[in-house]
Amino acid sequence: MHSANVIGSGPNGLSAAIVLARAGFSVRVYERSAQLGGACSTGEVTLPGFHHDLGASAFPMGAASPFFASLPLAEHGLLWLHPQFPLAHPLDDGSAVALTPTLAAMSGQLTRDDDAAWTRFFAPLLGAWHELVPEVLGPVIHVPRHPIALARFGLPSLLSAKALASSLFSDCRARALFAGCAAHSVMPLEAPLSSAIGILLAAAGHTVGWPVARSGSQAITDALASYLQTIGGHLHLGEQVESLGDLPHAGLTFCDTSPGTLERIAGQRLTPSYRAGLRRFQHGPGVFKVDWALTEPIPWTAEPCRGAGTIHVGGTLEEIAASEAEVFAGRHPERPFVLLVQPSVVDPTRAPAGRHTAWGYCHVPNGSTLDRTAAIEAQVARFAPGFQDVILARRTQTTAELEAWNPNLVGGDLSGGAMNVRQLLMRPTLRDYGTSDPWLYLCSSSTPPGGGVHGMCGFHAARTALARIRA
Ligand SMILES: Cc1cc2nc3c(=O)[nH]c(=O)nc-3n(C[C@H](O)[C@H](O)[C@H](O)COP(=O)(O)OP(=O)(O)OC[C@H]3O[C@@H](n4cnc5c(N)ncnc54)[C@H](O)[C@@H]3O)c2cc1C
Repeated sequence: MHSANVIGSGPNGLSAAIVLARAGFSVRVYERSAQLGGACSTGEVTLPGFHHDLGASAFPMGAASPFFASLPLAEHGLLWLHPQFPLAHPLDDGSAVALTPTLAAMSGQLTRDDDAAWTRFFAPLLGAWHELVPEVLGPVIHVPRHPIALARFGLPSLLSAKALASSLFSDCRARALFAGCAAHSVMPLEAPLSSAIGILLAAAGHTVGWPVARSGSQAITDALASYLQTIGGHLHLGEQVESLGDLPHAGLTFCDTSPGTLERIAGQRLTPSYRAGLRRFQHGPGVFKVDWALTEPIPWTAEPCRGAGTIHVGGTLEEIAASEAEVFAGRHPERPFVLLVQPSVVDPTRAPAGRHTAWGYCHVPNGSTLDRTAAIEAQVARFAPGFQDVILARRTQTTAELEAWNPNLVGGDLSGGAMNVRQLLMRPTLRDYGTSDPWLYLCSSSTPPGGGVHGMCGFHAARTALARIRA
């Protein structure tokens, strides 16, 4: 009874394993890859000495995670590095608006009215941040412990990002800044609830920041894994699980996998109706990703972009909304919204002395086979003329290449499943973490609260299982 198998060593698999090991379980983690961490890992994929984050690179949700905060990760090597600005958003007039580490520091970047509106909107949320985060980073349907904080966040979140930004702000700068944050939701910016992620990420910028991990995202994984081992967990690398029958007997099994993989490897252990529910789960758009080795920092025209960890490359709210809408209509926009992280502006360990690394991706229809390198680099060069001249080497990945690397990235979907209203409520089914087999759980980002490196899916999955055992 007191043993558990965890399939997959992404941040959620390791988090589930830690909760179980802390509860006294003997835990074994099985990872198909020779490298731990899933989409939270780092490798030299362009040139020797250039360390690229293979998936996640900027960590507002990692820094906000109440579960990560409860672990001694610093003792196991994790050091958050904060760039001068969490993010910057360049505009065609050569300027940029930066999300600043404090709300007060926003002053002077927006018009007077929008400055006041930004502060009026975010100040109450920041005041309630510590109550808000545990409410938001879990299942949508639950009894709130802090209903007022949740209502402050939840009511505006019902609106679309476009509607909220247009109702709060009158100028393009504040609207663009908010739209870039909301576009992380991988939802059309006209869709209800698409503002939720934007609100959360902007608020995180003003509280916990959007740090990178020193030496790369692998440091987060390695810290989780190292701590897990000190509390008795065992790691098995290079072991792809094809069937639950392949594993040694255990009281509990957790899958840090896609719902499709869960269905395949669990087979007849699941009821036909639960399997049908898993098959109804939908994946969202994919991404096309480029890793760059650079001779020098990206030559952004706007000064704030040079000190920011993350850059939202896409122009105005209208432009970002239109390009994301194209993707949801199954097309490839000519000028895609590009998410770019340049960790070496704050972390010199990422590249040989004086050199730099960055990655950028744009959304594409799920399963797209198109190479978007030229479109992505043209967008960056629009705000950083001469960008192509500083590229030493690049590695590109289509949706299929991403999925071949990590099968959880179905069709290139990095959120673990489409972020729509139905799948915010039922992720992947109404059972959330539980399955039709009382000893089998799903703990990946295909469960609440969804994508991002925060470990909260694994945390809640393991806690759910433990609560049921104790009941
Ligand atoms: C390109 C990209 C950029 C991203 N950027 C950010 C970012 O900047 N910030 C952020 O917070 N998030 C980001 N994300 C999202 C974040 O990385 C994921 O949401 C997070 O890693 C999900 O964690 P997970 O544990 O659910 O799954 P994963 O990290 O995908 O790990 C799942 C693991 O399970 C293993 N596995 C699957 N099937 C099997 C099997 N049958 N047998 C054995 N092992 C198996 C896989 O090999 C993998 O190691 C990004 C993702 C990608 C792909």
